[in-house]
Amino acid sequence: MLKGKVALVTGSTSGIGLAIARTYAQDGAHVVINGFGDKDAIEKERSGIEKDFGVKAIYSGADMSKGAEIAAMIADAEKQLGSVDILVNNAGIQFVAPVEEFPVEKWDQIIAINLSAAFHAMRAAVPGMKARKWGRIISTASAHALVASPFKSAYVSAKHGIAGLTKTVALETAAHGITVNAICPGYVWTPLVEKQIPDTMAARGLTREQVIKDVLLAAQPTKEFVTVEEIAGLALYLTSDLARSITGAILAIDGGWTAA
Ligand code: NAD
Repeated sequence: MLKGKVALVTGSTSGIGLAIARTYAQDGAHVVINGFGDKDAIEKERSGIEKDFGVKAIYSGADMSKGAEIAAMIADAEKQLGSVDILVNNAGIQFVAPVEEFPVEKWDQIIAINLSAAFHAMRAAVPGMKARKWGRIISTASAHALVASPFKSAYVSAKHGIAGLTKTVALETAAHGITVNAICPGYVWTPLVEKQIPDTMAARGLTREQVIKDVLLAAQPTKEFVTVEEIAGLALYLTSDLARSITGAILAIDGGWTAA
């Protein structure tokens, strides 16, 4: 299905982004992976994608908090692989604290990485997609694009912002063969979730088990974490021709969380 297409997935050295990049590569797309982490582990991942799926995989270490680096990453991908047909805005970070104690630099960093990065990437990738009359833009938002939780002011604001950006760019590109959608997972077991457990324990005075059961999965009616494979499956479907009429959609994949 994706043979000959190029997919760029931000924040794909780990978790959801890595699963999406591998799923696209398995389907035949050349991929650009991006994100931080151990140099050798990233190279193993990149070369593993090439070996496992017979596609080209390049790595960009662009920092998603820096607009100029994002624009350069898109330009470099177009130069090296010929195009960016599928853009997945996935890089994200979290910080948990009451608003009056929320560090200003953490607010700025979360808005930059979780929201402004998607703007910079779309701004740079849309011209090529318009010229080729085909494009797929997917942002990993969150159930927090639809509802709030306490102590996550920056994250919830950024993810709600992604919903607005998605709808706006979907309208602007609808007549150009481009779809723009946001995927809104509930809790997915990844390093991002693991990292917020100690902060949530401190902010709410709870044990690790209480955080998992009473905070993380409290709102998820299935009482199970969403898997990265399920999210990658939806991200793959959105690139298909069958999904060409789905645009501007904010799609929940949250075990029923936002149905309540
Ligand atoms: P993760 O921590 O496993 O992965 C995050 C990725 O983003 C990593 O590759 C990391 O290196 C990269 N990254 C972080 N800062 C970066 C920067 N400045 N520049 C470039 N890359 C950067 O997290 P995840 O759970 O896979 O999260 C991926 C996305 O899914 C995020 O946008 C997150 O908000 C969203 N999400 C996660 C969950 C969940 O429960 N895990 C739920 C809903 C939404």
